[in-house]
Amino acid sequence: EPVPLHSPDRQPEDPDAALRPKSLAEFVGQKAARENLRVFVEAAKQRGEAMDHVLFFGPPGLGKTTLAQIVSKELGVGFRATSGPVIAKAGDLAALLTNLEPNDVLFIDEIHRLNPVVEEILYPAMEDRALDIIIGEGPSARSVRIDLPPFTLVGATTRQGLLTTPLRDRFGIPVRLTFYTEDELLKVVTRGAGLLGMGIDEGGAREIARRSRGTPRVAGRLMRRVRDFASVLGEPIVTTKVADEALTRLEVDSLGLDAMDRRYLTMIATTYKGGPVGVETLAAGLSEPRDTVEEVIEPYLIQLGLIARTARGRCLNDGGWAHLGLSPPSTPQG
Ligand code: ADP
Repeated sequence: EPVPLHSPDRQPEDPDAALRPKSLAEFVGQKAARENLRVFVEAAKQRGEAMDHVLFFGPPGLGKTTLAQIVSKELGVGFRATSGPVIAKAGDLAALLTNLEPNDVLFIDEIHRLNPVVEEILYPAMEDRALDIIIGEGPSARSVRIDLPPFTLVGATTRQGLLTTPLRDRFGIPVRLTFYTEDELLKVVTRGAGLLGMGIDEGGAREIARRSRGTPRVAGRLMRRVRDFASVLGEPIVTTKVADEALTRLEVDSLGLDAMDRRYLTMIATTYKGGPVGVETLAAGLSEPRDTVEEVIEPYLIQLGLIARTARGRCLNDGGWAHLGLSPPSTPQG
């Protein structure tokens, strides 16, 4: 099944790879994270040690994988990547860890989805650089301790709260990534257009930036689709007008919301009279997994102030009603 155009989820063939910044200097936005990482990288290099373990957390498509790769490049060490659900057995993790060169970066995406048995193995690996492995079965089983080379674990997850406390506590450097501003995305689009050899003026770039859901991965995807429209229409330069026409045809609205975002908002407005309504109910109504609703759809709608997460469920705010062009039901008096 094709990935929806506007979804920040990664596509299997990863067309983003060409647009990935390769150094901290090239990386746009996330200023605080970038400046702190620069200090920790420098300190580790000066001491010739592995950098402390890093946890990147924030919505998909904001640059967690990219930053992990950049950290290894800036440290001048090797980079190995895997993801939580892929490491099925303790032995898989042991194989990865014992094959690292000293001070390498091991990147584990979706680290909150590690199998609990594998996670237990990770604790002493992170803390004491040791693996405790059980060899044999039954009464003859014995535990052996294997020393590991020093390494930096870089974990990525959508929300810090998804990690168990013991795992979270073992990351010395937690880094929160936040949605990009329009000006930051303007830089991302301008830089990307240069790399893609795409003719675009500032207005066109700003239009794409404004409608990219605060997310560089979405910006990259929209740029490529707008470029397709421009070339079919014979427009050599993507202007505000060309970008607007293309994005409107792609059902990306003035705030950058896509058809799924609008279905979500409309469901709260019409079916549930503005809420509160539980996330499970919304997920079922949209036929989307609850995780997708909570990690992908809602964070940006909350950031825009269109909805609120309350203890009793999700509610549509005034801005949400206004964006749909509807008025909230009047509360009965008396
Ligand atoms: P995540 O791991 O958080 O899901 P990625 O690191 O895979 O996100 O980033 C998705 C894509 O967005 C990258 O391939 C890159 O093209 C682009 N990107 C991310 N962050 C930036 C940035 N700060 N500047 C420019 N492009 C970026």
